[in-house]
Amino acid sequence: MKVLVINAGSSSLKYQLIDMEGEVVLAKGICERIGDGGAMTHKTGSGYVNKMDIKMDNHTEAFEQVKKALTTGEGKVIDDMAEVSAIGHRIVQGGDKFDRSVLVTPQVIKDIADLAALAPLHNSAHVQGINAAIDAFGPDVPQVVVFDTSFHQTMPPEAYMFGVPYEFYEKYAVRRYGFHGTSHRYVSARCCELLGKPDGKGTRIITCHIGNGVSLSAIKDGKCIDTTMGLTPLDGVLMGTRCGSIDPSVVTYIMDKENLTPTEMDNLMNKKSGMLGISGFTGDDRDLRAAMTDPSHPHQARAELFWNMRSYQLAKLVGGYIAALGGLDAIVFTAGIAENNPDLRADILDSLAYLGVKYDPEANQVHGEEKEVTTPDSTIRGFVIPTNEELVIARDTVALVTAQ
Ligand code: ADP
Repeated sequence: MKVLVINAGSSSLKYQLIDMEGEVVLAKGICERIGDGGAMTHKTGSGYVNKMDIKMDNHTEAFEQVKKALTTGEGKVIDDMAEVSAIGHRIVQGGDKFDRSVLVTPQVIKDIADLAALAPLHNSAHVQGINAAIDAFGPDVPQVVVFDTSFHQTMPPEAYMFGVPYEFYEKYAVRRYGFHGTSHRYVSARCCELLGKPDGKGTRIITCHIGNGVSLSAIKDGKCIDTTMGLTPLDGVLMGTRCGSIDPSVVTYIMDKENLTPTEMDNLMNKKSGMLGISGFTGDDRDLRAAMTDPSHPHQARAELFWNMRSYQLAKLVGGYIAALGGLDAIVFTAGIAENNPDLRADILDSLAYLGVKYDPEANQVHGEEKEVTTPDSTIRGFVIPTNEELVIARDTVALVTAQ
């Protein structure tokens, strides 16, 4: 069975075509600047890459280009789109309505659209993506939606409620939802397998998803009991361009001093803060590390400051989650930075030395591969487990479509 995985943004459409026999990625790519010119990158599993400027006025036109790229020319990987058995969509916000993946129905599309108030940019784009897929593939190709929030729906109220008047939870559904759930689910399930407890029973795990976006989850018996992202993906640890948790009065104080609207403040916290805001020059971890090792770099001191802030925040949160879990069996590192930055992993593992955590410096040099990085006598096991959100979406899609 071949599954097309779709991640639709407001002006972009990422896709991956996966042959579920052997779980092989046949092709993947991205359509960008939809409605504003248009550009497309298409890559095949055999290494062919094609970048092109193509006018795409809307998501339906983007799907037409995806079809063309998959079925014609040098990037062709299938003869006919009829070979695509199902489509799986990534959806950012499922609210408390969706605690699992579901098949798309008119009611599901309406529910996702209704949740747009909680994720205006994302959910509206996802609805456009689903409707465009129906236009492009017809109503008979089954579609499945997989939510970033579902895995976190097992959190208890003491973890998901915020200390503002209760009426705002009732009126506006203000609470912690958490994001990156597909990734936390995938790597924690894999960690349970590595611990020899595939059903998760009796396990206490912290998963650290550290990429452009950063979130940590505390997972007990295979179920999420807490996570650092909140109502939106802004809460928690400092990120590439997002501020993470700050004293809420900082928000009103800056708005007042700088005369900013809520939208302008939101933009400042989401796009101009975090690594970019502190270092003053980059939101990319590779640039940050290069600056830190270059004494002549004009931003070296502030790059170091960011590094220390992030490591300190991560250590505090991990410590807090160990208390919440009543101990810890394993910690997992995943996503672009945690999979590729041994020094950051070392900082977190060093912060747990008082608990008897020991890592193997050589094993910890791993980049983007599954590996145990702690030593056999370490009290807590540490793993690098590369995430694969698209594969989870494709697997959920197959499971739901074949169960029909
Ligand atoms: P996103 O949250 O957008 O999915 P990623 O998980 O891809 O982001 O993480 C992006 C971050 O990971 C960037 O800061 C980048 O510097 C870092 N990163 C990604 N790949 C590598 C790599 N191979 N080596 C070092 N750093 C990497």
